[in-house]
Amino acid sequence: MKAEIMSVGTEILLGEILNTNAKYLSQGLAELGINVYYQTVVGDNASRLLEAYEIAFSRADLLIVTGGLGPTEDDITKEVAATYFGKRMIFNENIWSDIQSRFVRREVGYSQNNKKQAVFPEGSHIINNNVGTAPGCWIELNGKIMIMMPGPPKEMEEMFENEVMKKLEPHLRQTIRSKTIRLCGIGESQVEEKLKNLMRDQQNPTIALYAKEGEVHIRITARADTEMDTEKMLAPVYEKILPVLDEYIYGTGTMSLEEKIFTLMRRYELTISIAESLTGGLICAKLVNVSGMSKCLKEGVVAYSEESKIDELGVLPEIIYTRGVVSKETVISMAKGISDKTRTSIGLAITGWADGYKTGSTGGEVWIGIFINGDVDAKKINFNGDRNRIRYFAANAALAWLHQ
Ligand code: ATP
Ligand code: MG
Repeated sequence: MKAEIMSVGTEILLGEILNTNAKYLSQGLAELGINVYYQTVVGDNASRLLEAYEIAFSRADLLIVTGGLGPTEDDITKEVAATYFGKRMIFNENIWSDIQSRFVRREVGYSQNNKKQAVFPEGSHIINNNVGTAPGCWIELNGKIMIMMPGPPKEMEEMFENEVMKKLEPHLRQTIRSKTIRLCGIGESQVEEKLKNLMRDQQNPTIALYAKEGEVHIRITARADTEMDTEKMLAPVYEKILPVLDEYIYGTGTMSLEEKIFTLMRRYELTISIAESLTGGLICAKLVNVSGMSKCLKEGVVAYSEESKIDELGVLPEIIYTRGVVSKETVISMAKGISDKTRTSIGLAITGWADGYKTGSTGGEVWIGIFINGDVDAKKINFNGDRNRIRYFAANAALAWLHQ
């Protein structure tokens, strides 16, 4: 099967956004053993888009399009596809009520424009969107397949992994199984370096790396005739990866770090408050991704200045002045302070230098402290990179340590 990836959006052509969808899909199709021969970018313009579809299908059997499924005037991907295939656009009542209930659940308003997201070319199969509101769709005609997915990467990636990969299986006449290993506290290039030998010449199973905010996911994908064979192929690769990256792995499968922490805290009936300096609230922001977190997370304090650490968390000034604001003693005192103040079983604290690594030796130095049911512990980690990278990595490292 020959494939082409098409990214629709004038903002990509103008260089306003980076075309990460094409990178992701190229990797994803390679995992399935599908050859991608072309990547195309087209603006939000009906006649140029139609021309791009024609060119694409003159040289490919599978066309995957992302972007332009939204509710606005310039979102025309499905409409132009209907024109290309000579189909009418049909309103789907069920999908519309589903979209409406999603908006209601999220307590955000919607307009009649959103109805556009429930209109599809006649004869297309609808692909669920479990993250956002716009479903994708799949049209098949005369041996050609066109798959349309929304532009936002989070929605597109989820849709590809959980819906599209499965739907492609029968066309590949093979069973496909994949396994995801989730890591934090390490960058994509370092993972690549460590897996260099394993990744070299890999074709089946494939090992693909996906960089997420402060995390890296390794996806191992095997293709074989039967499910049992794919499982047999996955296991040895998985076993080889585990010891190499042991200290960075926090889990496998689909459960995020924060979901896992939530599950553990509920199980042991723990509550937590968090004092953040370096990460400015990132740790709390990650935790509140999980619905129901208010049962465990009591309070978060961004104690960025020395005064705040002293006034809000009760850190003794002499600790800060003699040991330093980035030190074991300070972070322990912060963790104990927040836990005492809010009466939780766990106090988690973080402090560190986000930059300065270019000039001095302290840059990237991060201290994480945990106060748990009366015991304290602290850990120092050094990170490389820019401010953002260090902050995201540090936030994840704190959560990973908490999880342990
Ligand atoms: P929406 O309902 O959000 O309008 P859409 O399916 O219409 O979704 P677009 O309007 O094309 O998609 O893009 C929405 C956003 O998704 C863009 O602003 C951009 O941030 C992101 N995006 C779109 N295409 C890509 C791409 N190829 N790579 C990375 N990000 C993208
Ligand atoms: Mg749009």
